[in-house]
Amino acid sequence: MTAPSQPEKMHAISEETRHTVDDVLEYARRRALYEDIPLDKPMRPNDLARLASGSITDDGIGARRAIALFENVLAPACISTDHPGYLSFIPSAPSKASLAFDVVVSASAIYGGSWMEGAGAVFAENEVLHWLAKEFGLPAAAGGVFVQGGTIGNLSALVTARDAARRRNKEEGRANPARWVVVCSGEAHSSIASAADVMDVDVVTAAPDADGRLHGESVARVLDEHGDAVFAVVATGGTTNFGIVDDIAGVAAAAEERGVWLHVDGAYGLAAMLVPEMRPAFAGVELADSVIVDPHKWLFAPFDACALIYRDPSLALKAHTQKAEYLDTLTDSPDWNPSDLAIQLTRRSRGLPLWFSLATHGTEQYRATVKYAIDLARRIADEIERRDSVSLVRDPQLSVVVFRREGWSAADYQAWSDQLLEEQKAFVVPSSHAGEPVLRFAIISPLTTYELLVEILDSLG
Ligand SMILES: *Cc1c(COP(=O)(O)O)cnc(C)c1O
Repeated sequence: MTAPSQPEKMHAISEETRHTVDDVLEYARRRALYEDIPLDKPMRPNDLARLASGSITDDGIGARRAIALFENVLAPACISTDHPGYLSFIPSAPSKASLAFDVVVSASAIYGGSWMEGAGAVFAENEVLHWLAKEFGLPAAAGGVFVQGGTIGNLSALVTARDAARRRNKEEGRANPARWVVVCSGEAHSSIASAADVMDVDVVTAAPDADGRLHGESVARVLDEHGDAVFAVVATGGTTNFGIVDDIAGVAAAAEERGVWLHVDGAYGLAAMLVPEMRPAFAGVELADSVIVDPHKWLFAPFDACALIYRDPSLALKAHTQKAEYLDTLTDSPDWNPSDLAIQLTRRSRGLPLWFSLATHGTEQYRATVKYAIDLARRIADEIERRDSVSLVRDPQLSVVVFRREGWSAADYQAWSDQLLEEQKAFVVPSSHAGEPVLRFAIISPLTTYELLVEILDSLG
């Protein structure tokens, strides 16, 4: 029998693959080094269909044409989340070092799920996780894993919390409740409700105070009402809408007294703990059983990465390790396998871009860059207060500024926002608070200037 011919066209080193790699890296280099990042904007499906259909063919259109299609049609139909005027949701502002290194992660074909396969990468990711854990005041034994995002981070932490509660019930000969309950503030992120849905558990909200902060007394009342059904309490270290930090120490005390797991959702805000003056606002994080922070939000890493950290990682191993015969050689070893700490198996070493950038620049640069956004939020809030046509909805605590334009309807806000994007000046979508339409600046990028924000305020008339 003759050997089958090797279909190596896509993999062999040839003139053609060399050109493909060069062309792609050249485009990546150009994009990474844009002096003026284009804001860009979405396109209607029919327009894209007209301009960009037909790229998947039997014989391929070739790298040149595919890159040109991406650069000229597809990329301009994606808003650049790293544009200095991207101020909606939570922007992304990856450092140049981190986004360049993301290319290396892909080129190196590293499997980030197990120590056996990715020891070097796992070690470097752990260096970052341990540094973060220390910043949050967690013990040296704390550890975790970089997962896709805050949603998966919250879900994985809550699954671990419930598993720990079940195990404890079993050890102590107690029955599990008919329905498990997770307690959080009404201001908690939507991903908590989503996690509860996936887990088929109930969410009970404890009332925050008039300022939107969750306190210990309110949590204690709910915990006493629901007793042993509660497997976790979630405190938020910086709400997405306003940047409100709960009274984490108070919530921690209420949870600890009743032996309930404390999870701190700091997807956006926990990065502010890198700024020494901000640390007191987060007191109590050091008591958490699990925490998350998203480097793709305020730690200047590219999408997508959430650092999930457990006080006692062995509890996560028990909850998450997948059992399968083909995995026995991995799961029977005492090695540190990131796959075993969250809902995932195969994983990209998505913590490496942050590791590289932190190693390159050092932690002081990170502290200064986070502080810049907090100071800028304060400065523009003061400017809003000085103006008659706009007013603050709430004093900013972190880097989110929520304000209203006096006399405007929801339609006025939308028309103004559309125009701002049309002019390619900025991306500021209307939001709402307690039924009232409002505007919101979420500031992350150190390239966002006070002057740009003032210009946006001026455009409100
Ligand atoms: C953004 C955010 C999340 C969700 O994180 P993703 O990475 O978008 O999945 C959860 N909690 C808070 C407080 C957030 O700001």
